[in-house]
Amino acid sequence: MDKKPFRPNRKPTKDNRKGMKNAGFIALVVLFGLIIFAATSQPSPLKQIPVSTAVQQANDGQYSKIAVKSNELQITKKGEDKPSLKSYLEPNATLKDQGFNANKFELLAAPLNSSSSTWINAGLSILPLVFIVGIIFFMLRSAQGQGNQAMSFGKSKAKLYGNEKGKVTFNEVAGSEEAKQDLEEVVEFLKFPKKFEGVGARIPKGVLLIGPPGTGKTLLSRAVAGEANVPFFSISGSEFVEMFVGVGASRVRDLFAKAKKNAPCIIFVDEIDAVGRKRGSGMGGGHDEREQTLNQILVEMDGFDQGENVIVLAATNRADVLDPALLRPGRFDRRVNIGLPDRKDREAILKVHFKNKPVSKNVDLDSLAAKAAGSSGADLANIANESAIIAARNGHTEISQHDVTEAFERVAIGPERKSKVMSEADKATTAYHEAGHALVGHVLPDSDPVHKVTIIPRGGTGGVTWFIPPEDRMYVSLVQFKDVLARGMGGRIAEEVILGKDRITTGAGSDLQNAAELARDMIVNQGMGTKLRDQVFKSDDGMMMERMMSDRQYSDQTAKIIDEEVEGLIKEAADRARAVIKANLSKLEALKDRLLEKETVDSEEVAEILAGSKLPTSAAQY
Ligand code: ADP
Ligand code: ZN
Ligand code: MG
Repeated sequence: MDKKPFRPNRKPTKDNRKGMKNAGFIALVVLFGLIIFAATSQPSPLKQIPVSTAVQQANDGQYSKIAVKSNELQITKKGEDKPSLKSYLEPNATLKDQGFNANKFELLAAPLNSSSSTWINAGLSILPLVFIVGIIFFMLRSAQGQGNQAMSFGKSKAKLYGNEKGKVTFNEVAGSEEAKQDLEEVVEFLKFPKKFEGVGARIPKGVLLIGPPGTGKTLLSRAVAGEANVPFFSISGSEFVEMFVGVGASRVRDLFAKAKKNAPCIIFVDEIDAVGRKRGSGMGGGHDEREQTLNQILVEMDGFDQGENVIVLAATNRADVLDPALLRPGRFDRRVNIGLPDRKDREAILKVHFKNKPVSKNVDLDSLAAKAAGSSGADLANIANESAIIAARNGHTEISQHDVTEAFERVAIGPERKSKVMSEADKATTAYHEAGHALVGHVLPDSDPVHKVTIIPRGGTGGVTWFIPPEDRMYVSLVQFKDVLARGMGGRIAEEVILGKDRITTGAGSDLQNAAELARDMIVNQGMGTKLRDQVFKSDDGMMMERMMSDRQYSDQTAKIIDEEVEGLIKEAADRARAVIKANLSKLEALKDRLLEKETVDSEEVAEILAGSKLPTSAAQY
C-alpha cells in the first residue's frame, strides 16, 4: 500500500581511480610472490579426511591453520608450512556447528594453495619481463617518495576511536527511540556480560542496522561504544571492493585480531552490502575479492566464542541484497531498523545541532522541521551548519531566522540539493493517497485493521499504510482478497476523487502493480473467477524464456476470459473504493489533516478519526 514517488534513475557513481593507482605495483608484488612460491614448493595433492576426524585432531591441537573456502577446509598441521589435509563441512554447517574449537588454530578464508599451475607457468615464462618492469616501477615510486605505502596494504585500515576522544552518547542521537531501545540492550551486553552468561543467554555477535543514508547508523553505533565505554573499530565495506584478492581477507583478519586484544569492544562494518551481497549473483566473475572478504568476516564471526565479548555492528541501506549466510543465527541475527525522522524527531535533531550555536530567539525550529519533510538527520545537521556559515558570512553574531531560511533553501532546494524535501503539494497528495488506503481498509468488513499510516518516505516510497492481520491465518477467503484489492486501490481513487480524474499521479504505480498481480493469481491459481470458478490454469509467470518455451495449457479463448476476469476484479475494487471514499469525504479530510500535521498516525488514532464512517451498500459484500 505504498506510494512511490516518480524519480528519474539517478545512480550513485563511484570514483574508481583511487584503487587503480597502486594496481600495477601490487599486481607485480603478487605475481612475484607467486613465482617464488612455485619455485620453492611443489604443490602436492591434499589427503582427504572425514570432518569428524578433522574436528577431533583440531581440538587436540594438532593443526596450526585451517583455510576455509565455502565448505572446503584445507588443513595445515603443526610443524608444517603448507596444507596437507583437506576435509569438507556438511552443507550449511559452520565450523562451530561441526564442533571445531576456533581457539586451537588460526582461521583463514583464502585457500593456501589456490594458485593453479597454469598460472605459475605463465608467471615463470614472463619472469624476466616482470623483473625489469618491477624495478622500473619501484624506482619511479620511490622517486615520488611513496614506496613504503604499499608495504602495509594487508593491515587493516580500521580506525580506532578510543574512549577519551570523540566520545558520542545516546544524548547526541535525537529521535530514533525504538532503535535506541534495541541498542540499549547491546550496551548492557558489553557492560555486564556475566549477568547474561550467568543465566545461559547467548549474547548476539552481530547486529545489523538498516536504514537510508544519513539516518544516523554510524552515529548510533558510535554511541553504543560511547555508552558502554568500550573501543570502537570502524571499517567500511566499500574499502574492499577494488582491492586485490586476499588483501581484504587479511585486513579483516587483522581487524578481528586487534579487536579481540581490545575486548570488550565494538567492530563497526559500514556499508556491509558492498562486500556482503549474495554470492555468485554477479554477472561474469570478478567478485573473488568480495567473496573472500565476506568469507573471512563469516569465519571470524563463527570463530569467536562466548566469553569473547566483541560485538559486530554493521550498517546497510539494502538489507534485501545481503547474502543469507550473513543473517544466520550466530551472525547478524539481530536487526535494527532506522527510518527517516518524522516531524517531531526532525525538530529534536535540529535542536541537537543548534544546541551549541548562538541562535536568535526568533528562530522557529518547529516550522523549519515541518517544512523539511523527507530530510534525513544528516540533511538537518547540514542545515544547522549552513545556517552558522551564512550567519558568519552576513556578519551576524547570532543566527537569525533569515540565515536559517537561506540555509534551508540552499540545502533543500538550492543548486546542490541533496535531500529530497517534499513540496507542500506532494505532501498533500501523499496524505490524501494514504488516507484513502486507510479509510477503505477501515470501512470494509473483511479487511485487516489499520496498524499505522505515514507520509514519511520509506524505502523508496512516498508513504505507507500498514495493515496487520489479526492473527496468523492459514487461509484467505475470496471476500478478504476483494477487500485487499479495494483498499489497495484506495490510494489512487482518493487522488482521483480529490484531485480530479485526470490529475492522478505516478504515486499509485506499485499499488496498481500489486493489485494486478493479486487479481491474476486469484483467477489463474485460486479458481476465484466468476466464469472461471473452480478451475486453475498453468500460470504463465516466470522468466521470459520459460514462458516462450513452455506452451500454455489453455486456449486463446480462455486467455481472453482470464484477462476479462482480472479486469473485472480490478474495476470492482476501484468502484468499491470510490463508493467508500465518496460516502466518507469528511473522514478522509480529517485523516489527511492529521497526517499533514503529525506525518505518522498510529492505529488507535486512525480508529478514533475514522469512527462512524459509513459502509455504502454498493461497497458491501454480498
Ligand atoms: P548513516 O551512517 O546512517 O549514513 P550518519 O550516522 O553518518 O548516518 O549520520 C550523519 C550525521 O547526521 C551524523 O554525524 C549527525 O550529525 C547527523 N545525524 C543523523 N541522524 C541523527 C540523529 N538521529 N540525531 C542527531 N544527529 C543525527
Ligand atoms: Zn498507495
Ligand atoms: Mg554512515
